[in-house]
Amino acid sequence: MIPLVDLKAQYRSIRDDIDGAVTRVLARADFIQGEEVSLFEQEFAAYCGTSQAIGVSSGTQALHLALSACGIGPGDEVITSPFTFSATAEAVYYLGGRPVFIDVDPVTCNLSPELIEKAITERTRAIVPVHLYGRPAAMVPIMDIARRRGLKVVEDAAQAHGAVYKGRTAGAIGDAGCFSFYPAKNLGAYGDAGMVVTSDPEIGERVRLLRDHGRTDKYEHTAVGYNARLDTLQAAVLRVKLRCLDHWTWQRRRIAEQYRELLANQPVQVLQDEEDTLSVYHLMVVRTPFREHVRNHLLRQGISTGIHFPIPLHLQPAYRELEYREGSLPESERAAREVLSLPIYPELSDAQVFQVASAVKEALLTAEDSGPGPN
Ligand SMILES: *Cc1c(COP(=O)(O)O)cnc(C)c1O
Repeated sequence: MIPLVDLKAQYRSIRDDIDGAVTRVLARADFIQGEEVSLFEQEFAAYCGTSQAIGVSSGTQALHLALSACGIGPGDEVITSPFTFSATAEAVYYLGGRPVFIDVDPVTCNLSPELIEKAITERTRAIVPVHLYGRPAAMVPIMDIARRRGLKVVEDAAQAHGAVYKGRTAGAIGDAGCFSFYPAKNLGAYGDAGMVVTSDPEIGERVRLLRDHGRTDKYEHTAVGYNARLDTLQAAVLRVKLRCLDHWTWQRRRIAEQYRELLANQPVQVLQDEEDTLSVYHLMVVRTPFREHVRNHLLRQGISTGIHFPIPLHLQPAYRELEYREGSLPESERAAREVLSLPIYPELSDAQVFQVASAVKEALLTAEDSGPGPN
């Protein structure tokens, strides 16, 4: 059996350090805004190269509070990708804003920068690029448009801890960057957790205020805020794991390279590394019109796969009122039909990668006989 991710294997490799860190918090009992939170914030800011990092309760809250701190409010339009997890658009809704979806690039599955300009109206306030699968979006053209048109940029870096784009860390390029530490992310807590990074002191100050009931003192509240703090226990876990992150990223990149070699010259599209960027391979995604056939073939051999994501947001029932039609964002819709995530995690062995790739090849050999793909 090969799972899509194996969090138990990871825990086994760092158990003593994790148990020690958790035990220290239990003994100190500083569960809310404890010492580990500010230490982790300092360490994560240094890791990203920003002046500030503000721990929050989830990646979703990171997006919500970062957009709020950037001044997004009722009626404001925020340009983003439809090919992402629902949280990216939810955050805009929480503030009474309206997500404006534009299509993705067929090769990278990230926002197509050349489509941004056409989507800008007088209500547009921000762009939220998503660094999907751990691969940085085209931040140079995105920042260029944003600066020219006076828009804020909030990066959804929930899948991209430590990814690098032209020498800068994903999340540290826009006005603010948002991270998720959902357990299965490249840097994962043992529960929900998130972070906003920024080098803008006003945005940082505002997020800090909003995450903790808008208070400046124990019982003085200068804003109507939220309970959206990062747990001290999660911060303690994340500090241990941050020390391993570069090694884990290196393992992921090595595994991705193996997959690319093993699947070269196969009738399947494998995401390539780009010049000047360092993807952190949160997911190892291949594309084929015969996805269901491949997925079932792997499942019969005990190999789990995932689909990220089967329905683009503009076609989700939740966003029906935005009135997008099927066919309106064709590249996102085609990606949703073709993408397949193969197992990738740092502890995956060479033999297992070989086994998965062989199963994919076998499946592709019989794909044509299984009937035409959905396209
Ligand atoms: C995981 C994820 C989120 C949400 O993070 P949570 O910590 O689960 O709230 C947002 N955007 C993307 C792209 C994600 O993958």
